[in-house]
Amino acid sequence: MAVTLVWFRDDLRISDNPALTAAADSGDDVVACYVLDEETDGIRPLGSASKWWLHHSLVALDASLTELGIPLLLRRGAAGDVIPRLVQESSAHAVVWNRRYGLTERTTDSALKSSLSDQGVDATSYQANLMYEPWEVTAGSGKAYRVFTPFWRACLASRTPRKPLPAPDALHGPHLDSDDLPTWGLLPTTPDWAEGLRDTWTPGEAGAHQRLDDFLDGAVGGYKDNRNLPALRGTSMLSPHLRFGEISPFEVWHAAQDHKDSSTAEDIRVFGSELGWREFSWQLLYFNPELATVNYRPEFNAFTWESSTEAELKAWQRGRTGYPLIDAGMRQMWQIGWMHNRVRMATASFLIKNLMIDWRVGEKWFWDCLVDADAASNAASWQWVAGSGVDASPYFRIFNPVLQSKKFDPKGAYLVRFVPELADADNVHEPWKGSAPGYPAPVVDLKESRERALSAYKALSES
Ligand SMILES: Cc1cc2nc3c(=O)[nH]c(=O)nc-3n(C[C@H](O)[C@H](O)[C@H](O)COP(=O)(O)OP(=O)(O)OC[C@H]3O[C@@H](n4cnc5c(N)ncnc54)[C@H](O)[C@@H]3O)c2cc1C
Repeated sequence: MAVTLVWFRDDLRISDNPALTAAADSGDDVVACYVLDEETDGIRPLGSASKWWLHHSLVALDASLTELGIPLLLRRGAAGDVIPRLVQESSAHAVVWNRRYGLTERTTDSALKSSLSDQGVDATSYQANLMYEPWEVTAGSGKAYRVFTPFWRACLASRTPRKPLPAPDALHGPHLDSDDLPTWGLLPTTPDWAEGLRDTWTPGEAGAHQRLDDFLDGAVGGYKDNRNLPALRGTSMLSPHLRFGEISPFEVWHAAQDHKDSSTAEDIRVFGSELGWREFSWQLLYFNPELATVNYRPEFNAFTWESSTEAELKAWQRGRTGYPLIDAGMRQMWQIGWMHNRVRMATASFLIKNLMIDWRVGEKWFWDCLVDADAASNAASWQWVAGSGVDASPYFRIFNPVLQSKKFDPKGAYLVRFVPELADADNVHEPWKGSAPGYPAPVVDLKESRERALSAYKALSES
């Protein structure tokens, strides 16, 4: 029987998976594979938290595919070598996959497409992970939009996102030799730091749908305001599931729209626009492939980062800066691999503006620690906070961690949850004003460091 090879990448799901559906609809035998590629030149290896996620997500995908009738085949190596080998082993006449948008990934995929087609193997790619592909809705010049609001308005005006596809009913195909997942060493062992991740998340498609259902049954009402309050479960926490494609943005979009009524319409509009930020970030990355390493605004190349001490960087990384909101956020990320959006902005601003450390240092740390570490959203957000990106926050906007926690966590519930020693502090927002046993003194003076940043940014804007 003819064989179609399905290559899973950032789409670890069986529902709304156009490549898998095409293979199932062909009536062919189906071989499903995932390739751990850390060898292709230019590929960015996953961070530690993402590796943990990937392990469990692959276990879940294998279980779903096995239930449909075929296993998930695992191989390791440069995709440009592994895929042709798998085509040979399985005698596949066709290969299908869902599109990726990073430069290295696109280059790999198009090279494969042409080499496979030279061998008479048909390779077809599908749109699955973005509702609007980056080249579809562009600014007048045919380039990326620089500002979010017109981008998102133009996307929504162009068409409604298509309806999601159901999962195939059944699949059949040969069983080929697979790597044993534990030999990939994706899970931490010495030490095993993943307890907080295990307690918080259920990687895989079922876990993703459960999160979505919980969100729509609960926090979506009030999302517009509550999304800013880190002590609450005010947001969907879908980001790692979207990152690994365990749920598609089309599924999330339509589930939210179907849930709309007069009391939630505005909340769902705002939630939809957050999905839009994800699309916007990917358009930026598509047109600026070096977004994680190169200032979008070249004038920032002249910016002189102060050489803060290694001790200050460590204090930020470990959540021991002496500023409760910063420490709570950094410890939240350390414990559960995720941080609330408002606190991401505050912690990034603190590193860049109060410690004057290059945004790329922070981007890398987040990349390693976040389960939702996303090549586009992480890089675009860090550049947004630094002011070096498009649609940047104005240079004089320096998040004040004390005012932020007073405003968004007035009772200090979030602060104490992640910095338990503050439970005994006289003043949870400004512990240095009273007694706070076991809690560090501030690593920098907020006022002085703010002045230092303002003059450096001002000098840049005048140069
Ligand atoms: C410095 C910094 C780094 C960030 N790094 C990442 C990252 O690596 N991966 C990541 O997915 N998001 C990143 N974000 C964006 C945002 O913080 C997270 O997407 C959000 O906190 C995820 O939580 P949620 O799923 O509950 O979001 P919700 O509020 O429920 O939003 C729904 C979905 O919309 C998308 N989304 C929401 N806000 C944004 C945003 N500002 N930019 C892009 N997409 C968004 C996410 O896919 C999210 O799951 C970063 C933000 C900052 C300030």
